[in-house]
Amino acid sequence: MNDTPAKVRFAPSPTGHIHIGNARTALINWLFARKHGGRFVLRFDDTDPERSRAEYADAIAADLGWLGIDPDVVVRQSERLALYQATAERLKAAGRLYPCYETADELDRRRKRRRARGLPPIYDRSALKLSAAERAELEAAGRKPHWRFLLSNFDDDPERIVHRKITWPDLVRGPQTIDLGSLSDPVLIREDGSYLYTLPSVADDIDLAISHVIRGDDHVANTAVQIDLFAALGAAAPRFAHHSLLTMASGEGLSKRKGALSIAGLRAAGYEAAAVTSLAALIGTSDAIAPMADLDDLVAGFDLSKLSTSPARFDPAEIGLLNARLLHETGYDAVAGRLDALGIGGGEAFWAAVRGNLTIFAEAAEWWRIVAEPLAADRDPADAEFLTRAADLLPPEPWDDGVWDAWIAALKSATGRKGKSLFQPLRRALTGRDDGPELRLLLPLIGYRNTKARLS
Ligand code: GLU
Repeated sequence: MNDTPAKVRFAPSPTGHIHIGNARTALINWLFARKHGGRFVLRFDDTDPERSRAEYADAIAADLGWLGIDPDVVVRQSERLALYQATAERLKAAGRLYPCYETADELDRRRKRRRARGLPPIYDRSALKLSAAERAELEAAGRKPHWRFLLSNFDDDPERIVHRKITWPDLVRGPQTIDLGSLSDPVLIREDGSYLYTLPSVADDIDLAISHVIRGDDHVANTAVQIDLFAALGAAAPRFAHHSLLTMASGEGLSKRKGALSIAGLRAAGYEAAAVTSLAALIGTSDAIAPMADLDDLVAGFDLSKLSTSPARFDPAEIGLLNARLLHETGYDAVAGRLDALGIGGGEAFWAAVRGNLTIFAEAAEWWRIVAEPLAADRDPADAEFLTRAADLLPPEPWDDGVWDAWIAALKSATGRKGKSLFQPLRRALTGRDDGPELRLLLPLIGYRNTKARLS
């Protein structure tokens, strides 16, 4: 770590809902900030007015809030255009941002020609050769320039390309090297004057004093360009860490619009935020995936060096398993308010009885209905006599802790039944189900009167 406190950012484009892969990037940044006593910036990359929507930004903030990822600072790029304008002017003045007039078709033809000649299909900087008069002529003919950043692989004459490599020690991937000669001078400003992602991102990283850029490895090539841009602006580059992306078990990438895996979708399906954060933080790391109810425990165990460089494969079934494990370990105090809100009684005894059978929390309401509300009789006529005996032998009130053992012992000796033939008809009569929580725990909750009624 540097001496300056860490400052990181999560920078979604609000063009859709975030999914678990995006949430993972957010969480890794947040955990890093919390681990190092740093700050976490939520930056909305909303410079594209066509595709960005305020509703998506709000939804992203709400999804992060639900997960417990609280930003220290929120910025919107659409409100920071003056900074980008000033940055662009500085680059122009330094000769590092130059106007180009090629149409998409022209560029395409040129790329094809270069490929045919065995050259890499990168931009040949031919716009640098335009004289002021030629540019004026193009503009008079109605052409509008787009603007490219002149990468630093030149010495005095930008048209004489020199070999130049950008290197950085990636905090996940180790030492990285990218040859600038393999890249085109990137377009920073479109013909209509709008900014592509690169310039605003670097201008913001400088302005907000971001110390670490932690993001998906789909940005590795961008990093070389961005490091070159930091240098052109006379700023020290932050440190970089690129984590691998989350893919489906099949290897297919997660797209932003796959509803079921959106954070909102997982929430609506009833998963606990802690199940999502446990999975998002631990998948693709050297740690085992385990339910972590408390984000502080994830903070304590967090280390960028634990992140793997190979794609993290995600199986949606895993979230259900994790959610169930989490609920099984959840103490009554943590859920008392939620049980109350669902009108579920029975207190701690009820929670202790049912939590081991839940996949999602809302299923507790179903068990409460089974325990507390009248149950339609559903039994095998072959068991009628046995159940009548069971009703007769049910210990009278008041019940103590020994009621179940006393009842079962009496039933065993009266009927000679044991094992499944003893318990299965009781379970069916008392709960209407063939499996579920331990009957020993349910019996006191169902109570004397209801039990009697269900047996006769
Ligand atoms: N808006 C960019 C994205 O969503 C941000 C990338 C970055 O972290 O720099 O991919």
